[in-house]
Amino acid sequence: MDRRTFLGCGAWAAAALAFGPPARRLVAGEPAADLVLAKDFARVQKIGDGLWSVVSTPMRDGKFLATTVSNGGLVAGKEGVLAIEGFNTPEGAAWLSDLSLELTGRRPTHVVLTHFHPDHSGGLAGYPRGAEAPAIVATKETRRLLLEKLHKDPPAGEGDLAKAGTRLLLPDTILVDPSKPVTIDLGGRKARLVPRGGHTPSDLTVEVDAPRTIFTGDLFFNGLFPYYGDAIPSRLAETVAAIRKEDHAVYVPGHGPLADTAQLAPYAALLEDVGAAARKAVGNGTPAEEAWKSYVIPESLGAWALFRPDVARFAFEAWERELKGA
Ligand SMILES: [Zn+2]
Repeated sequence: MDRRTFLGCGAWAAAALAFGPPARRLVAGEPAADLVLAKDFARVQKIGDGLWSVVSTPMRDGKFLATTVSNGGLVAGKEGVLAIEGFNTPEGAAWLSDLSLELTGRRPTHVVLTHFHPDHSGGLAGYPRGAEAPAIVATKETRRLLLEKLHKDPPAGEGDLAKAGTRLLLPDTILVDPSKPVTIDLGGRKARLVPRGGHTPSDLTVEVDAPRTIFTGDLFFNGLFPYYGDAIPSRLAETVAAIRKEDHAVYVPGHGPLADTAQLAPYAALLEDVGAAARKAVGNGTPAEEAWKSYVIPESLGAWALFRPDVARFAFEAWERELKGA
């Protein structure tokens, strides 16, 4: 992954939301969840008791709103509050911390990072308030990737996290076993952190019951063509197959509006279709940098926002890397 690719992730997702998925998908598809708060950069919906989603809307009237960029949420019990994601800027995390205090009477006691990408992790420094600092929870591999990709070579530039003075925080509570889910008991509300992978070498989903809700991180882009810059494509497809095995669930994707189980079907089909095309190209000896140009998303899969015309290139390159073992 080169630097440009890495920097592109958050901005891409933001750009995608400028055009957004067609309104019919937004309106028809979203599961019932009361709107609690709408800011220009994000909206907050109540999914159940002590359970809220943050859906970011980083583009408004052609302007990039960098505050949060990624989706996330809050899970609250009697003894603790778990925030999902560090968001793009400390202002974004501080906003969610204030909102947690308002909605639950306390600031987050835990923050879970679904993966290392800067639009999900860059704002961590906004959570600690004086002596009050939440445990920052991630996998060992996510911590390693944060160190390798962000702390040693912090990106800079408009819309990115490492503005002058931004303190980068690292996870301090590590899921050591990459195959073993961990349950955090918040007091009458449990959150299960399930190590997965595919969007990056290490992703986590945050899963709760009543109602069954899965915060997928970027394993699921709803209505937007997914970002494959750090993907392991076959593993991504397997992971998506696994998280779809729910009769009824609310999904909070990494980007895009809330979804129900049925809405993962076109996403899984898109991954499959892109994969088939990319595997064929490798089989024919056509390099990814050429092959992506002739890829067209079948109309039967519905409308997918392409936030830049060459978004499929990353998918073809990821497949090529995987198949050639590069
Ligand atoms: Zn990501």
